[in-house]
Amino acid sequence: MNDWSIATKDPVLVTGATGYVAGWIVKYLLEAGVTVHAAVRDAHNKDKLRHLDDLAASSPGTIKYFEADLLKPGSYGAAMQGCRIVFHTASPFKITVEDPQRDLVTPALEGTRNVLKQASATETVERVVLTSSCAAIYTDAIECQNAPGGRLTEVIWNTTASLEYQPYSYSKTVAEKAAWDIAEAQHQWRLVAINPSLVLGPAIGGKPTSESFSLIRQMGDGTMRFGAPNAGIGVVDVRDVARAHIAAAFNPDAQGRHILSGHNTSFLEIAQSLQPRFGDRYKLPKRALPKRLLWLLAPLAGFPRAYVERNIDVEWHADNTKSIHALGVNYRPLQQSSEDMFEQMIEAGLLPDR
Ligand code: NAP
Repeated sequence: MNDWSIATKDPVLVTGATGYVAGWIVKYLLEAGVTVHAAVRDAHNKDKLRHLDDLAASSPGTIKYFEADLLKPGSYGAAMQGCRIVFHTASPFKITVEDPQRDLVTPALEGTRNVLKQASATETVERVVLTSSCAAIYTDAIECQNAPGGRLTEVIWNTTASLEYQPYSYSKTVAEKAAWDIAEAQHQWRLVAINPSLVLGPAIGGKPTSESFSLIRQMGDGTMRFGAPNAGIGVVDVRDVARAHIAAAFNPDAQGRHILSGHNTSFLEIAQSLQPRFGDRYKLPKRALPKRLLWLLAPLAGFPRAYVERNIDVEWHADNTKSIHALGVNYRPLQQSSEDMFEQMIEAGLLPDR
């Protein structure tokens, strides 16, 4: 399991390098002395790249920016040149969008096709690590009850999300399926998928756009002062997710999908984990919002009643054994992820300093 190290000879491509998850992958690669080809939408946006430049300045590795867009065929060609390893993290992670096809499904699916076809056209590429999601495995916590042994595993695929219901989950499902279709039609490179549950923990910098931050913000800004939904969910620390990506890339034996989830928990428990350190300064939710109330309020709050029925007061369970054995993941405590994230959001001005 540990018979591998990070190879520093060849450059490594990270798509969506400005992202929350990607930031930590880039950090660990730079610290190991790797040359990172960072694919970003706007290579001239100094503000958005400052945290990556700062990392590179204090690490033995080097960062080179390449402009690329998921929707522009061939746009990852220059960035991929000479790379043995490609981390494909770029994909929109938003829950509320105007047009689910345009804003989620098309960039996720066409972007994956674009990047993976480029991998086949770039003869140096030997491995592609895809940032998929547990959303490609399930839509609602209630599905855990029908899973063998009551736990989600890597053999399960999401069959319940659609353009109309939980389109983000749908976008991740169709994108990962397309990735496996492309991978299985060739022999040049191996696909390894990472399927994280909800990612929490601090960002390395920049102004995070990931949906992960909206949830913690709502817990801290008073939106949830009357209570939090007791919705079953899995949680994993962003640093553990990044380390798993690195193992998936450099461990010669890594293969297939990997559920990355440290804790079978709920929104309520995440909020409660913040109480000891921040409870005296912030109006954090202490109790569960009643399911009946959430059901009544759902249309006003902009989420479907079906979500309430299938997730509130429903436990979430996933089997993370493969990630521990195959990738050597050592999951951090939930409280460390939530506290570090909350603290960093205060420092970054995303939550008021009280
Ligand atoms: P994020 O910070 O919003 O990162 C998304 C990245 O995708 C950004 O770098 C963004 O670039 C890029 N991107 C979006 N549309 C693009 C386009 N059309 N062309 C090129 N790049 C584009 O979100 P994240 O949480 O780190 O998500 C990263 C990956 O992890 C995604 O694949 C997501 O589905 C997956 N994931 C996240 C979680 C979670 O809880 N956070 C859980 C499971 C899986 P810009 O900076 O230019 O917008």
